[in-house]
Amino acid sequence: MSGPRDIPHYINGQHVSGASGRHGDVFDPNTGAVQARVGLASADELGRAVEAAKAAQPAWGATNPQRRARVMFRFKELIERDMDDLAWLLATEHGKVVADAKGDIQRGLEVIEFACGIPHLLKGEYTEGAGPGIDVYSMRQPLGVVAGITPFNFPAMIPMWMFGVAIACGNAFILKPSERDPSVPVRLAELMTEAGLPDGVLNVVHGDKEAVDAILHHPDIKAVSFVGSSDIAQYVYVTGAQNGKRVQAMGGAKNHAVILPDADLDQVVRDLIGSAYGSAGERCMALPVAVPVGDKTADELIERLIPEIEKLVPGVSTDPDAVYGPVVTAAHKARVEGYIQMGVDEGAELIIDGRGFTLQGHEDGFFVGPSLFDKVRADMRSYQEEIFGPVLQIVRAKDLEEAARLPSEHPYGNGVAIFTRSGLAAREFASKVNVGMVGVNVPIPVPVAYHTFGGWKRSAFGDTNQHGMEGVRFFTKIKTVTQRWPTGEVSDQAFVIPTMG
Ligand code: NAD
Repeated sequence: MSGPRDIPHYINGQHVSGASGRHGDVFDPNTGAVQARVGLASADELGRAVEAAKAAQPAWGATNPQRRARVMFRFKELIERDMDDLAWLLATEHGKVVADAKGDIQRGLEVIEFACGIPHLLKGEYTEGAGPGIDVYSMRQPLGVVAGITPFNFPAMIPMWMFGVAIACGNAFILKPSERDPSVPVRLAELMTEAGLPDGVLNVVHGDKEAVDAILHHPDIKAVSFVGSSDIAQYVYVTGAQNGKRVQAMGGAKNHAVILPDADLDQVVRDLIGSAYGSAGERCMALPVAVPVGDKTADELIERLIPEIEKLVPGVSTDPDAVYGPVVTAAHKARVEGYIQMGVDEGAELIIDGRGFTLQGHEDGFFVGPSLFDKVRADMRSYQEEIFGPVLQIVRAKDLEEAARLPSEHPYGNGVAIFTRSGLAAREFASKVNVGMVGVNVPIPVPVAYHTFGGWKRSAFGDTNQHGMEGVRFFTKIKTVTQRWPTGEVSDQAFVIPTMG
C-alpha cells in the first residue's frame, strides 16, 4: 500500500521533492489521518530557490509594469476558473468550511486585483524647476529577491497579500508557507506560471524554523514579510533586522467587541456568532472578547447568545451545512481546550463548554464545540493570551471608559469593534482606541485590498502594513534624482540649489 502523497517544493517553475530527509505530516483535520507529507527544507534547498530567484529577477524587474500587470490579470482569471478545486483543497487541509475557504481565496484575489493597477501605483513624483534648470523626480524600484513567511490560518489570502504586491513591483519572491496546509500555496505558484510568470520569479519552499532561519540569514534576501504568532513575529523582526533586511512582521491578536447599551442587539448576536465561532475562531480578526457596557446589556446579550451558540454544531469542512469545521491539528485542539480549563481555574464562569465534543463517524477529527465564558477579568491569563479557537469570553464593563480601556491596554492591538447607534461615541472611540484596525458596527474590520492591513502593539513589528500603498512601499525602494541639463550659457555657473540660498 502506498503511503501519504508528498507535497513538493516549487522552485524555478518545477516541482522539487524535499531532499533534507526531514518531513512534516499534513493532516485531514476532519478525520485526524495523515493525508500527505511535506519536505522541510534545509538551508541548501532554500539556497537553491534563492539562486533561481536571483537569476530571474533582473529580467522580471526590467519588464515594463503593464506586462507585469497582464500576468496578474491572467492569474486572477485562472483563480476564478479553479476556485472550486482550490477551495476544496484548502478546506480539507485547513479544516475551514468550503464557503470560508472561498472567502480566504477571494480576499487574496482582491489584492491581486489591486496589484493589476501596478503601472499607476509605481508612478513617482516630479517637480519641475526645483532650482534654475533643475528638476527633481523619484522612482520606486524593486528590492530584488524578497521572502514571505505565512501562517496556517489563511493559506491563500496571506501568500497573495505578499507575493501579489511584491511580484507586481518587479521583485522575485520566495514563499515559505505554513507546513500545516502547504498544498494551496503550491497550486497558486503553478497558476502564476500558467499565467505567464517567468520561472524563478515565484518559488515555494516548505519548512519550519530551519527554513525560516535560512531566509533570515541569507544575504541575497532583501526583505521579509511575516505573518504568524507574536513571539515568532518578534524573533523574525529582530533577526531579520540584525541581518540588514527590511522586515514587516504581523503577530497574534485578541480583538474586543465593545457593546454599548444602545446597540442593535440582534445585529450584535449575529455578528458575534459569525466572528467568534466562524472558521473555528482561527482568524486573527475574530472577535473572541465581548465587552458589554452595563450589567443589563450583558445579561440580555448572554440570554440571546446562549440559544444561538447551542445551535452551532461543528461539522466536516466539506459539508455544505457545517457552520464551522475542525481546528487545524490535534495539538491545537489540546491547546484550545487547555485555555478553557485555564479560564475555569482562574474563576471565570463557563456557561457553555465545548470540550469533549465528538462528531459521529469522525471521532478522531479535531473538532471543538463552541464555548462561552462570562465574568472574565482583565488580569486572567486566559484573557491576556490568544486562544485561537471557538471560545467567546465576556468581560463586563461598567461604562464606555472602562470598556475602551480594555482593548487599549491589552498587549495585542490588531482589531476592535464597537457596536452602538451613537455616532459621537463611535467617533470618539475610533479616534482614541489604541488598536490598529477599528470596526463601527462591523464585526471583522479587515480593510479592503486598496487600504492597508496591520495591527499595533504585539500584533505587528515594523512600521509598514500589508497591501495597499503600504505594501507597494514595503516591496520597493525609492530613489530621488535631481537633474540639470546645462544650457551652455553663463547663467549655468550661477545655479544655486534652493535650500542653500
Ligand atoms: P506560527 O507563528 O506558528 O507560524 C507562522 C510561520 O512561522 C509558519 O510559516 C511557521 O512555519 C513559522 N514558524 C513556526 N515556528 C517557528 C519558529 N520557532 N521559528 C521561526 N519560524 C517558525 O503561526 P500559526 O499558528 O501558523 O498561525 C496562527 C497565528 O498567526 C496566530 O497567532 C494568529 O493571530 C496569527 N495571524 C496574524 C495575522 C495578522 O495579520 N496579524 C493574520 C493571520 C494570523
